Amino acid sequence: MFHKILIANRGEIAVRIIRACREMDIVSVAICSEADKDALHAQLADETVCIGPAPSKDSYLDMNRVLGAAMAVGADAIHPGFGFLSENSKFVRMCEKANITFIGPSADIIDKMGNKSEARKTMMEAGVPVVPGTKDAVYDAAEGKTLADDMGYPVMIKASAGGGGKGMRICFESKDFEATFETAKLEAENAFGDGTMYIEKYVQDPRHIEFQILADKQGHTIHLGERDCSIQRRHQKLVEESPSPVITEELRKKMGAVAVKAAKAAGYYSAGTIEFLKDKDDNFYFIEMNTRIQVEHPVTEWVTGIDLIREQIRIAMGNDLTYSQDEVQVRGHAIECRINAENTERNFMPSPGVITSVHFPGGKGVRIDSAIYAGYEIPPYYDSMIAKLIVYDKNRELALRKLKNALGEVVIQGVATNVDYQYDIINHPDFVAGEFDTGFIERFQEERER
Ligand code: ADP
Repeated sequence: MFHKILIANRGEIAVRIIRACREMDIVSVAICSEADKDALHAQLADETVCIGPAPSKDSYLDMNRVLGAAMAVGADAIHPGFGFLSENSKFVRMCEKANITFIGPSADIIDKMGNKSEARKTMMEAGVPVVPGTKDAVYDAAEGKTLADDMGYPVMIKASAGGGGKGMRICFESKDFEATFETAKLEAENAFGDGTMYIEKYVQDPRHIEFQILADKQGHTIHLGERDCSIQRRHQKLVEESPSPVITEELRKKMGAVAVKAAKAAGYYSAGTIEFLKDKDDNFYFIEMNTRIQVEHPVTEWVTGIDLIREQIRIAMGNDLTYSQDEVQVRGHAIECRINAENTERNFMPSPGVITSVHFPGGKGVRIDSAIYAGYEIPPYYDSMIAKLIVYDKNRELALRKLKNALGEVVIQGVATNVDYQYDIINHPDFVAGEFDTGFIERFQEERER
């Protein structure tokens, strides 16, 4: 049993985890930076430790300070949320040494899945379909070009250490390969300190379909159905839903079984996600595994009735899974919109500042995961996502109707947000029809600018 959990994060996910701790009678400890003393997570937790200055590298990303705080308060475990240290195997090893449970998989599993070209190899060996592409990492542009020429264009050049859409470039023609490779590699070196690359065939008009996995330390592994996250801007998700409007029960069974096989091949435990790209002919390919809880987890919670944070904590304590695969049922339809403080008219520039007033919708089937309140000042140092609006109803049509009303009711004053932009997305005829792919936003943006 955990008595006390330190939450190594901020914003809405920290608040989400604090609430779960409270429901489980576990003492919650927040950490905050000097810029976050008034943040909701710092106010809501049972205890709060200010661990350093505003920049993430001096606070939320400073492994010694985070672990030091956990030791000082006598925490049994650390929940990393997403982002920050959630996929940092070095930090997990430090926790393991300090005898503090990291709520997530082991350092070895993170290493195995965190390196995307290595993960591809593991999956190929396990018989999981991956996007056709290079078997080994590619370090050199000329070598990459030879491989890409063989593969045929267009190709996707990707960073092994990649995440958040960084270090990734499409290349349409052989003559552009070397320059594109160098650009992607440079971006990867800057973002991750690692310029190891790999090359995949570019999947035409794909849908991003991911499966939620839960696995315990005893080797039980189940999936909780899929999320369709094809609405992306620059490879960053904006709207997510479950179930996907294009996945039949038969395909769900097939893809779900492959997702479970993939998680098992990684020796996985905790909550995790297997991401696939699916083409128009229902071919699907593994692209990566996320070894943490994800932003979009609430849509799965709603259609399955399973509390993912609670399960994650229970698994970390060494418990068996609460549910068997047969007990998981996907019912109804849930859709999530990410609300960001950004200016959609000015190239999506972040819009920090004081929230002068805020009103969120409510009622049956409406969930808000947020950490803002009237008078709160959004600091300029962190991610611009300030809230998630999630709706649930019996079917997609009703859920969409609810989402339109709920989004229409949102009022956030003082900073620019993408609420109106999201409203236009979910009212677009292609979105309403469920007919979209990962290129939707690019087309949508062109239509707006016309
Ligand atoms: P990251 O780890 O940076 O999130 P992913 O590998 O998960 O990167 O890919 C993010 C998104 O980029 C996918 O959801 C998809 O939209 C696009 N993408 C990635 N690989 C390919 C590919 N081979 N073909 C087409 N689109 C791709």
